[in-house]
Amino acid sequence: MRLLFFGPPGAGKGTQAKIVAKEFNVEHISTGDILREAVNKGTDLGEKVKSIMERGELVPDEIMNELVKQKLEEVNSFILDGYPRTLEQAKFLDAVLKQIKKEIDAAVLIDVPEDEIVKRISNRRVCPNCGKVYNLITLKPKNDEKCDNCGTKIVQRDDDKENVVRERYRIYRKNTEPVIEYYRKNNKIVTVNGVQDVEEVTKELFNMLRRFRNNDNN
Ligand code: ADP
Ligand code: ADP
Ligand code: ZN
Repeated sequence: MRLLFFGPPGAGKGTQAKIVAKEFNVEHISTGDILREAVNKGTDLGEKVKSIMERGELVPDEIMNELVKQKLEEVNSFILDGYPRTLEQAKFLDAVLKQIKKEIDAAVLIDVPEDEIVKRISNRRVCPNCGKVYNLITLKPKNDEKCDNCGTKIVQRDDDKENVVRERYRIYRKNTEPVIEYYRKNNKIVTVNGVQDVEEVTKELFNMLRRFRNNDNN
């Protein structure tokens, strides 16, 4: 099974992609997670992208394309979460998949309106140690503000500050919505209603994705 996950910042892509990847036994490739890890470790890539991410802007296509190409050569079944975000990236992805003779089964759009997005993102917290994602209203850690996995104090992402969120949303509308239209033309888009409890969204996704379960799972 090979999927793309789309949706505005804070829609629940990461939350759902992790659950689906586990259930269907495929690799979860989150470009945001990969970049944040590079920034945390202070690698060359991290140095290059740090300030871009802090401003909520997009990392250049050449960097993203090279990074994803490498990943795709290592795995067979996957969920791509956060890529492609520009038409340029979508066209590059098409070419890579053609080259390695693989196809996308579906592009999942998690549909959530702007006011809900703002609410979710302002309450999003992450564990700086293991990356687990929480929400102060809907998905609280069991103990105060400490990570359930590792006990580290959870924090707000630098790019989850209000003015940066607004910029990310603007970029999503301008650059990534055309990508969704691109996949709509290929009949690849399936939409789920993201304004439901996490479990309800997951249920809708599982039902929808069952038909792809055994596509090339080796
Ligand atoms: P969110 O989960 O809020 O949608 P992500 O974690 O996917 O955000 O991405 C965080 C940041 O990483 C983006 O604002 C952007 O700077 C960078 N980034 C991630 N994926 C891409 C991509 N495919 N192209 C360009 N920049 C990206
Ligand atoms: P994305 O990867 O699309 O940016 P996340 O998966 O990080 O989004 O979710 C954004 C925030 O909303 C997080 O704080 C997460 O815990 C919370 N969240 C995710 N899905 C739901 C949901 N269905 N209902 C309420 N809150 C949610
Ligand atoms: Zn943790």
